[in-house]
Amino acid sequence: MTLRSRILELERESRSLDPDAAERDRLLSAAHAYAQQYLDKLPETPAYNCDKSAVLALRDLAAGPGPRPMDQLIERIDGSVVRPGLLPSHAGHLAYIPGGGIYASSLADYLAAVTNEYAGVRFAGPGAVEMEDLILDWMAKLVGFPETADGNLASGGSIASLIAVVAAREAAGLRARDFERAVVYASPHIHQCLHKALRVAGMGETVRRDVAVDRGRRLCPRSLAEVVAADRARGLKPWLVLASAGTADTGAVDPLAQIADIAHREGLWYHVDAAYGGFFAMLPEFRPVLAGMERADSVVLDPHKGMFLPYGTGAVLVRHRDALQDAHAYYASYMQDTVEAEAGGRSPAAVSPELTKHFRALRVWLPLLLHGEEPFRACLREKLELAKYFHREVEALGFEVGPEPELSVVTYRWVPESGDANAFNQALVEETHRDGRVFLSSTTIDGRFVLRMAALAFRTHLDTIDLALEVLRGAVARLEAEPERWRAVARADGVAHAPGART
Ligand SMILES: *Cc1c(COP(=O)(O)O)cnc(C)c1O
Repeated sequence: MTLRSRILELERESRSLDPDAAERDRLLSAAHAYAQQYLDKLPETPAYNCDKSAVLALRDLAAGPGPRPMDQLIERIDGSVVRPGLLPSHAGHLAYIPGGGIYASSLADYLAAVTNEYAGVRFAGPGAVEMEDLILDWMAKLVGFPETADGNLASGGSIASLIAVVAAREAAGLRARDFERAVVYASPHIHQCLHKALRVAGMGETVRRDVAVDRGRRLCPRSLAEVVAADRARGLKPWLVLASAGTADTGAVDPLAQIADIAHREGLWYHVDAAYGGFFAMLPEFRPVLAGMERADSVVLDPHKGMFLPYGTGAVLVRHRDALQDAHAYYASYMQDTVEAEAGGRSPAAVSPELTKHFRALRVWLPLLLHGEEPFRACLREKLELAKYFHREVEALGFEVGPEPELSVVTYRWVPESGDANAFNQALVEETHRDGRVFLSSTTIDGRFVLRMAALAFRTHLDTIDLALEVLRGAVARLEAEPERWRAVARADGVAHAPGART
């Protein structure tokens, strides 16, 4: 066989990766038909399914590599991936900080993948990079940052936070020998991804200070000032203060402006984690709560939460662009052709650990332009009001409630007439999981096991909240009627444990 004929034979085979128009139509129709019935049936589908055994059937298909019919594969995706566990795009996702899944973004992802636009370097993907810049400018304006700001669309809030931490490290000129003296300040309720970012950035040895919080679990500025002063007196180097614009736990917003005063006076890098609460800045009436965010050195926002995007987009904004570039820019000779174009502005690769990246900007840009900003505002506003409504109604059902929500998280618990309230509430959240029509989660506040309701999924509306209240009422009634199901069996680790409860 000649070299040419051998190559042509390979070509015949490899061409099946590039289906023709008729075949594309067939494949797309199958995917589209599935998406249509998934969305149409979503309201009658449980939000959560405890039975996760169907996941194992994924392995059956791994048995042989051969080509398989699209319908069979879609069936497997539905059975083994979509149904077990949580349906994150469901209205009834009321746990953790819910995500989104707006349809316009799914189409943007489709187009981004078909064209496979290169979003890492301006020379290759000038439009994709320009679109990312536009989106970052829009977000910077939302935050209230000056023109000097820069940023990056990363895969999520955690990676965005890592980028911010590395910029903060380089801006302070910290080297390994300094780490044991550099101090990080935060409330105990700061998101764990920031501690993770510090460790991944090689800064696991920095000194961490848990700053005291007030009754609303907001960082106490006076304590911060005191701890910083004490650290200076000890010869340590106060470096970074982390504030939350909405903790994941309870939605508490730290007093951002007062923290800014201290950070500026003390020369600390000021980072605001607005992954949850940042997009509420789109609401003029909410901006006073976030006042002071505009004085941060870096801010993280999570469009796959507050803009209801499908998972895969977090944004970091840094006040001074040099800090971001000094920390991330690199040069490779095999890419020497691309440097000339940097005159048009820096490339995303120069401000992020990533080089090649998904064309993420399109999944933000398309829905914003397709729908306009107003429906996003309405959806955010609706979630704040739903949280107030839930707070009022769950109290009316007889639950003990936490403070009126600042954002869209409500905490509450049932206090049984006798017996261990923690055991009851743990059994209660498990009972709601078995029910599955809505998905709620829990947390521990001052040693108390409490339930949470977080309204941020874009499909969550009044009927969802009414359903959640009904699910809770039913679950309490069942547990009250059968106390043997929750009477605590104290385990060695002290965690309340309801016998026979599935996890
Ligand atoms: C979700 C969240 C994060 C982490 O973001 P990911 O997108 O999950 O990586 C950080 N902080 C807060 C407050 C969050 O809600």
